[in-house]
Amino acid sequence: ATHHPNLELRPLGNTGLKLSCVGFGASPLGSVFGTVSEEEAVASVRAAFRLGINFFDTSPYYGGTVSEKMLGKGLKALGAPRGEYIVSTKCGRYKDEGFDFSAERVTRSIDESLARLQLDYVDILHCHDIEFGSLDQIVSETIPALQKLKEAGKTRFIGITGLPLEIFTYVLDRVPPGSIDVILSYCHFGINDSTLVDLLPYLKSKGVGVISASPLAMGLLTENGPPEWHPASPELKACLSACQAAATYCKDKGKNISKLAMQYSLTNKDISSVLVGMNSVRQVEQNVAAATELATFGQDHETLSEVEAILSPVKNQTWPSGIQRS
Ligand code: NAD
Repeated sequence: ATHHPNLELRPLGNTGLKLSCVGFGASPLGSVFGTVSEEEAVASVRAAFRLGINFFDTSPYYGGTVSEKMLGKGLKALGAPRGEYIVSTKCGRYKDEGFDFSAERVTRSIDESLARLQLDYVDILHCHDIEFGSLDQIVSETIPALQKLKEAGKTRFIGITGLPLEIFTYVLDRVPPGSIDVILSYCHFGINDSTLVDLLPYLKSKGVGVISASPLAMGLLTENGPPEWHPASPELKACLSACQAAATYCKDKGKNISKLAMQYSLTNKDISSVLVGMNSVRQVEQNVAAATELATFGQDHETLSEVEAILSPVKNQTWPSGIQRS
């Protein structure tokens, strides 16, 4: 596989890692957005690497371990030196077991993940969706356990992920400086919700790297619309129909809502990588093209402002996630 230099690389906090601005979200390889064959999964990973994507994100939760296994096969098929790609996986959330952020479980988790990924180490190990656990346990038990895994060389860096933005400041304010290298936020830096921007100065001041996932709002900003399980489906009907209206508006104009949305998310350079879920070579090509066209021609401001107007009644609407705290 020859590496394509076209895609911009961006530094990730204080880690020294340089992530491609488009990151490969491997949850779709667990067939969570429709069935994906092993052949297509491997071909998608290969196409991504060939086109300059060096960052791949998965979790044992996605497809109940299927995503990790598929990504492992794809990475192996690259035949590339291990230092040429960056892999993150997660711990604490499982399809069959639910949530378990205990030191014992996360310590076992990394070995299971490494076996499925066929790797000796991952670059980043995230605590997955911490709002579903006790944040105080994350601070006092999970992060110290992950620190030991870092010392043992099983992960190079440590991260936390989740939906509500308050969880990041809560935890980062309470752990020793430098013990959390990265945060992964999702659905908060896209055309319909850009609230992550308010947190960026704080994260920068702490030297914490920022990964932003779900630029397409987990399918809301696509022509096909979101999957059944999308959390906005029952609760945010107005959001759903506004996004559908925006997608149709773009299509009628000969434009593509997903390209516009990718480009919007890529414009903020304090975000090191925009993780987009992909399950086909075609989607990989489209999302890389969105980035290279943005670098060459800039954002399509006219269409963007029209779409922003359509989405303005639902701007920054989100949904509850995790254990409800008073
Ligand atoms: P997303 O917004 O990236 O949307 C993915 C959907 O859009 C899939 O159905 C995909 O097939 C489709 N798609 C991708 N490119 C397209 C294109 N060019 N045109 C039309 N459709 C396209 O949502 P996501 O996959 O949930 O998020 C991206 C990744 O970020 C995940 O795979 C995962 O790795 C990560 N993530 C992590 C967390 C967490 O840690 N809590 C949460 C969400 C996402």
